[in-house]
Amino acid sequence: MTAPAFDPATARQDILDRIAAAAKAAGRAPADVTLVAVSKQQPWEQIAPVLDAGQTIFGENRVQEAAERWAERREGLELRLIGPLQTNKAREALALFDVIETVDRPKLARVLAEEIQKASKAPRLYIQINTGEEPQKAGVIPPDADAFIAACRGEFGLTIEGLMCIPPEAEPPGPHFALLAKIAARNGLTKLSMGMSADFETAVRFGATSVRVGSALFGSR
Ligand SMILES: *Cc1c(COP(=O)(O)O)cnc(C)c1O
Repeated sequence: MTAPAFDPATARQDILDRIAAAAKAAGRAPADVTLVAVSKQQPWEQIAPVLDAGQTIFGENRVQEAAERWAERREGLELRLIGPLQTNKAREALALFDVIETVDRPKLARVLAEEIQKASKAPRLYIQINTGEEPQKAGVIPPDADAFIAACRGEFGLTIEGLMCIPPEAEPPGPHFALLAKIAARNGLTKLSMGMSADFETAVRFGATSVRVGSALFGSR
């Protein structure tokens, strides 16, 4: 006999239950944590049952791939860009996404500000913080975070909704989540995008307002 097929709808309910339990344990309301279903690289057979189960918020890490998957079925969904954004894709990203979570450098902030003016339509924006200061990873390093947030608001006139991070794989994530929460608090930001398949409950304990879950929801990529 073959193993039973992975069932994304059941997985989704299990993840929602775990988010709710982690929130309650931390004295938070389950409704204050949003599940972002990371659909990158997933075949449509895995995505369809999650949509049917009522999931409306999806995360993608590439503009082109997201457009191919979602452009024709965009209605009623919230799409979030969670991967690095090249400035030459900013206009396309703005047209497709409701939320861009990876604002991480002045040049991108400037181009987004210009495109937002032209489009008279603004996505919700998060600044990505490279909490582990990993050279290969995108994001503003913590010592530069306050100045970059201030520049986004002042120099570029952007409204920033929150902060996002991806902790180093080989380290316990808690201190990174705590650092992100601290940077957000001192800058008057209340939204935190943090936590993935392996650590979303920890992230909820540290104050995540959205968790980005891929493989635990859809199966391995
Ligand atoms: C792929 C990805 C995720 C989801 O990762 P899983 O471990 O599969 O849950 C979350 N956030 C970002 C930025 C990603 O690129």
